[in-house]
Formats: sequence, structure tokens, C-alpha cells
Amino acid sequence: MKTVMVDMRDGIDKEGMRLAGEILRNGGLVAFPTETVYGLGANALDERASARIYGAKGRPSDNPLIVHIADWEDIYKIAVDIPGEAKLLADRFWPGPLTMVLKKSDLVPLTTTGGLATVAVRMPDHETARALIRAGGGYVAAPSANTSGRPSPTKAQHVAEDMDGVIDMIIDGGDVAIGLESTIVDLTEGIPTILRPGYINQEMLEEAVGRVEMDRALISEDSSVRPKAPGMKYRHYAPRAELIIVEGEEHCVRDQINRLVAEAESAGKKAGVIGTEESLLCYRSGLVKSIGSRADEITIAQHLYGILREFDELDVDVIYSESFETPHMGQAIMNRLIKAAGHQIMEVQTPEACSDGSADTGKLR
Ligand code: AMP
Ligand code: MG
Repeated sequence: MKTVMVDMRDGIDKEGMRLAGEILRNGGLVAFPTETVYGLGANALDERASARIYGAKGRPSDNPLIVHIADWEDIYKIAVDIPGEAKLLADRFWPGPLTMVLKKSDLVPLTTTGGLATVAVRMPDHETARALIRAGGGYVAAPSANTSGRPSPTKAQHVAEDMDGVIDMIIDGGDVAIGLESTIVDLTEGIPTILRPGYINQEMLEEAVGRVEMDRALISEDSSVRPKAPGMKYRHYAPRAELIIVEGEEHCVRDQINRLVAEAESAGKKAGVIGTEESLLCYRSGLVKSIGSRADEITIAQHLYGILREFDELDVDVIYSESFETPHMGQAIMNRLIKAAGHQIMEVQTPEACSDGSADTGKLR
């Protein structure tokens, strides 16, 4: 199949948008920009169309899709028993990076919801995305536009790497603004519960609707606790190289990474380092990349997936990353990074041990 790339970086191209809408209404697949990551869209109410998404991504069929809408009223067609919190959250955060899980109506095929009786709904804060949703009939099922398991796409080029020749169209809207997927909140069981952390954090949600809980699987150290969002159980966002997160006091982390890179290199391996603007000059060898600035955490979120893809291009064997427990988005950033690392986290020694030079005993958790 020939994949058409349409450039909408400087705004909506009318003819391109007309064609994209036609593709969606005829059951085809169109990748498009949103403020979070690029989505792979199909008509959410057409069972065959949403089945094609699973095929293109190699996505397990029990991993439900988020349905994107462009106007609040459209929610009434796909969701039932909508609680008051949904309107409060929509008034505060839509359009924006928040997905709400609600009871589904009969119009939504089970293929779209991965067999669940609930539907996840979001209204993206991106003009091109909303124009596409309207052009395509109002309901666009869209997971991230990457091959299942790979880092999510934050630019059209990433989509092309995974989807060229597999889908009908890619709309290029330039680099995304946030770089991590939406926050998912479940409104079907009493107290609203966060199933996936994102830019909109617990505190912001609580300001709008009162008490909000976190899914136990997000906070439990026990990795056998089953997440309520089916997609959260899979290894995800992962580069081809082994990825290890090093945690601890900042200068100990840098020392430890320097040691690990030296060891890897003397074993003949190609090693990568994920540092920040602040730490970049502290690393002595390896392929060192800055993910952004600790002083501006959105830059860290924006660059996370791109940097993992860059290391894939460079064919490194092992990547050592600092950890990024930043104040606002830290939970979301670390949730993705830990999954990408397949839970490989190394804790370095206390600062005392580190400064006396004996901290070569970092251990994997
Ligand atoms: P993606 O669109 O690739 O970011 O993935 C969508 C995420 O939303 C996955 O983690 C899904 O498991 C989750 N999701 C979608 N629909 C539901 C639902 N009805 N209930 C719980 N989680 C959902
Ligand atoms: Mg995804």
C-alpha cells in the first residue's frame, strides 16, 4: 500500500483534510498529530476499521482503543450513565490530554473497546486532530501510531518509520507539544481512579472533582498487581537496546553511569547515556544525549520517546539513563521510562559511600 504524507505543519490543508476524512469514512487508517503523541486513527464505530488498527500496530486484541471526539455533545452517543464528574473534568481539561473511561453504548463495537463494556474517550487539544475527527464522522479510535512495543511517535517521521506502506495516510503536524500519552481516569466505579499518569496529574484532577485515587498497579512495588488499563500490562515504549535507569543522589548517579559506561566499553559494547542539559558535561565517554532540562520538565517529556528511537538508529547495545522524578510530570515520565527499561532500575549508594569513592556497588532492584 502507498502511504500518502500530507504536510499540515503550517495549518490545515483543505484538500488533504477532505481526503483524510474520506479515507476514515471508508474504513481506512490515517495517522495524525495530537498534543500528546501521534495517533493512528480509524472510524471507531466501524468494527472492521478498528480491527485494522490492531493489525497495523501488531497490537494485542485485548488492548482497547481510545475514542477521540471533537465536541462534548458527541459523548452521549458512545457513553451511557455518564457521571457528573465527567462534565466537570471536561469543562476544566477538554480539549486536552485527559482520557475518561465511561460505560459504553451499544453503538461502540467491542473490537474498539478490546472486549470491554467501557469506552475510553478523549478530546484532543489540537486543531488538525479535531478537524480530522469531524471530517471522519465524529468518532476516531486512535492508539499511538507506533508498532506495538516501540516508543510512541512524537513526530511524523517516527510514524513513517513504523507505518510506511501499512496505512493510507500520515498527516505531518510537526513535533508534538507534550510528548507523553494522555492521563487516563476511570469514572465507572465510584471514586475517579487514574489508570495511566500523564500531564494532568492527580492534584489537578482533585482540584476539579475532589478525591481521586491511583490504580494500585501504578503505585505497588509488586509488579504482579494487574493494571486496570489492559495496555499498561505490556512491555512498552522500549528501545532495542537494554535500558537501565540509575537512581540516587545526582552526582552519585553521574559517577555510577561513568563507571558503567567504562565497563560496557571495555567489554566491547556500544553504550548510550541519557543525561540532561545540566549533567551533559559530566560524562566522560559513551554516546551521551541530553533529554532536556531539569529546570523545564516538559522538555524531558517531549524528548523521551525521540531519544529512545535515536539510540535505536545508533545501534547501541546498552543505554544508561538518569531518573527524572520532576515535580509536575515526574510520575508520568518515570512510568514510561520504567516500562521502557523493563523495570531495570539500579539504585546507587548513599552520598557518603559515593563521595569516599566506594560506590561501585550500585545494585539492580
Ligand atoms: P494508546 O492509545 O496506545 O495510548 O493506549 C490506550 C490506553 O488506554 C491503553 O493502555 C488501554 O489499555 C487504555 N484503555 C483504552 N480503553 C480503555 C478502557 N475502556 N478501560 C481501561 N483502559 C482503557
Ligand atoms: Mg501506545
